[in-house]
Amino acid sequence: LYVEAALGEGVAVTVEGNAAHYLISVMRVKPDDIVLLFDGRSGEWAARARDIRKRDLVLDCVVRTKPLERVPDFWLCVAPVKKGRIDLIAEKACELGVARLQPVQTRRAVVDRLNLDRLRAHLVEAAEQCGRTALPDLAAMVKLDALLRDWPEGRHLFFADETGGVPMAQALVAYRGPAALLVGPEGGFDPAERAAIRALPAAVPVSLGPRILRAETAAIAATAAWMTLNGD
Ligand code: SAM
Repeated sequence: LYVEAALGEGVAVTVEGNAAHYLISVMRVKPDDIVLLFDGRSGEWAARARDIRKRDLVLDCVVRTKPLERVPDFWLCVAPVKKGRIDLIAEKACELGVARLQPVQTRRAVVDRLNLDRLRAHLVEAAEQCGRTALPDLAAMVKLDALLRDWPEGRHLFFADETGGVPMAQALVAYRGPAALLVGPEGGFDPAERAAIRALPAAVPVSLGPRILRAETAAIAATAAWMTLNGD
């Protein structure tokens, strides 16, 4: 269970709201039962339940069961696509071990606003399901030109370009180290955007094959490919 509190030896966490309802009414937690907690910074802790009331309970951290995971240094930069699909991208990015999810505003994106709270809830749910102890950073949406202008030194940018690029497998071997993937929206990038991305020295246009993939397919497949070579 993800909790906002900073966990540590002897720390008592009071759980309320939906999480308390889930533990008390769904999982039927009883006094002295053990619940696994993580806060995204201090690893996973086994915590013992006590003071179980109708709407809240207290969990006492007993022992750290998992250290904070080493997160592969990979960012997923995606233009926002329709609601269910960006949620899917967030969930799969978390499961695959992505360090940062960076929404990027592009000219042809059909979605120009994102509900970051909803996306974050998907990240938390995915982390709880797959056993991550660190949550991906969820960055605020940036415009493509700002993303390119402020691109960090020393990070490769794999630019998923359906008009042509290096085969992903070849690029993965050639460009090791901190990386990011950039995937366009349903309508793709416009020619000026494509030229601006290719002009970035850190950009490596990559092809994911001869077919036009949906953005979520491209994002998930290319992230998984990178993780097979560089993941934990
Ligand atoms: N321009 C596409 C078209 O003609 O229909 C629409 C964009 S595609 C649905 C969404 C994004 O997925 C693209 O911007 C690109 O980043 C990525 N993508 C799709 N197929 C790809 C491929 N074969 N190789 C590399 N990237 C791909």
